[in-house]
Amino acid sequence: MSPYKTVESEDKSTDVVWHQASVSHQARVAANGHQGAVLWFTGLSGSGKSTVANAVDRMLHDIGAKTYVLDGDNVRHGLNGDLGFSDSDRIENIRRIGEVSKLFVDAGLLVSTAFISPFAADRTMVRALLGDKQFIEVFVDTPLEVCEQRDPKGLYKKARAGEIKHFTGIDSAYDVPVSPEVHVKTANQDVQQCALQVIEYLRAEGIIPQS
Ligand code: ADP
Repeated sequence: MSPYKTVESEDKSTDVVWHQASVSHQARVAANGHQGAVLWFTGLSGSGKSTVANAVDRMLHDIGAKTYVLDGDNVRHGLNGDLGFSDSDRIENIRRIGEVSKLFVDAGLLVSTAFISPFAADRTMVRALLGDKQFIEVFVDTPLEVCEQRDPKGLYKKARAGEIKHFTGIDSAYDVPVSPEVHVKTANQDVQQCALQVIEYLRAEGIIPQS
């Protein structure tokens, strides 16, 4: 039984109004010298989402950008500690991450998220929360065999042994992104090359300055 209170729809207040901030989003963007956006890394477990997201974050930080990384495992320790891996919990997991990302973007940050986010519908839901050019889907495309060989957390071994159920790529589906903004192939390129591909996209779209 979860120790957390679930807010049923009838409990929700209808009297909550959005408070207008005294410092506008535009003022934050101007102060930061770059746009706010979420870099939504999606891919199989072990595909390299965290690794590439952190490499991108380092590159952005080094040029003075305001950044943060929301990592799947870390978020599940806290904010989403009450959620499991059923389909409904995975959807709620992504919805909360989407809402948190939106706040980061409103704060003018470049926030990288590293979640498997296997369902296209959920990624579309988060995209719809954000404005134009604020949701950048980065498909970390790594063949299942390569992910399984890497198995950085030993999870594939456990899933194959039946110790983990609903494991994406094994007995749970992964919807391949149809038109991601950035498509990195980690089996052919090293981490730095993958990260640079993301940085080049941000430059080309004017999300960060040219140099
Ligand atoms: P995920 O966050 O997708 O579960 P991780 O980033 O935790 O994946 O693990 C990916 C593993 O693959 C790491 O051990 C990383 O060093 C390795 N790896 C090898 N080549 C690459 C690459 N080109 N890009 C990203 N990760 C790579």
